Amino acid sequence: MTAQIIDGRAMGAEIKAELHDDVGHYIEEQGKAPGLVIVLVGGDTASGVYSKAILRVAEEVGIRTRLEQLPARTSSEELRALLLQLNNDDDTQGIIVQMPLPAHLSQKMVADTIAAAKDIDGISPRSAGNLFLSLPSLLPSTAAAVMAILERLHIPLAGKRAVILGRSNVVGKPLAMMLLQKNATVTVCHSHTTNLSDYTQQADVLVTAVGRVNLVTADMVRPGAVVIDVGINALPGGGIVGDVDIASVEQVASALTPTPGGVGPLTNIMLLKQCMQAAWWQAKGENELDSQPVRINLRNVHHHL
Ligand code: NAP
Repeated sequence: MTAQIIDGRAMGAEIKAELHDDVGHYIEEQGKAPGLVIVLVGGDTASGVYSKAILRVAEEVGIRTRLEQLPARTSSEELRALLLQLNNDDDTQGIIVQMPLPAHLSQKMVADTIAAAKDIDGISPRSAGNLFLSLPSLLPSTAAAVMAILERLHIPLAGKRAVILGRSNVVGKPLAMMLLQKNATVTVCHSHTTNLSDYTQQADVLVTAVGRVNLVTADMVRPGAVVIDVGINALPGGGIVGDVDIASVEQVASALTPTPGGVGPLTNIMLLKQCMQAAWWQAKGENELDSQPVRINLRNVHHHL
């Protein structure tokens, strides 16, 4: 068997076109485009490049964007005050805070402060809890990208065995919940899993999100399985590869994602799709994603500014 190589770029272009139409409908109904704000603290170059890539795609689909660039010395109170202001701002429907933050700022504070209704990265405990409870939720974009691939290829999931390698909060764990919602039987493996191939050989759908070159080889894959490779590994000589040994696995799998050109190109687009979802929910007054109202009294916040 030679596997179908899944074209993430083509799929991304398709979803982007749909998103462009969705933004058009939103503008027709609401009279203005939804707004996305990216908060970048300090001068981390990779985050800066990543932010610009998101902003570019957002503008292409018609989402209004703003980059809030704060100096590395920004205090926790200042960052919190900005987030509370954005939570209250009618022109902002989605908020992203770029990680990593400078060491003196806590990711937990950010996750606890962003209104769940605007948390388009799905990082807040409320978003994670909503997903865990099968309630409507904004989703971490990489896990959502994996689901988009499976959905668009009409890969059956109900009653199928899905095995995920990796249990991070941004990929493995949310993906496990999403696959469970689609009635797959889900196994999550991690660095303490013994005899990994005992699990992977069972998988109808195998997703790897680890970050280790050639972790998955043909002998670990069940013939006909669908293999989704989230891993990104920089090679010493330049270039990137995923976790899957493509040359051998493509002889066994029925479909697999390449790296680059698989999951990666979908991630930013799924992030913007979450922004649109957030905008629609807010427009329809469905802010019950939050445990507390999005609007709070700003008077107490202003002394921190
Ligand atoms: P992470 O937080 O470092 O998590 C890696 C996971 O892999 C951990 O759960 C770890 O187990 C597990 N692991 C390590 N060695 C293993 C082994 N030998 N067998 C099975 N599991 C093992 O990484 P992440 O943020 O989830 O990202 C995972 C990979 O995806 C990275 O390569 C990252 O660059 C890539 N990524 C790609 C995209 C994209 O857009 N395509 C987006 C995000 C991330 P423990 O929990 O026990 O440590």
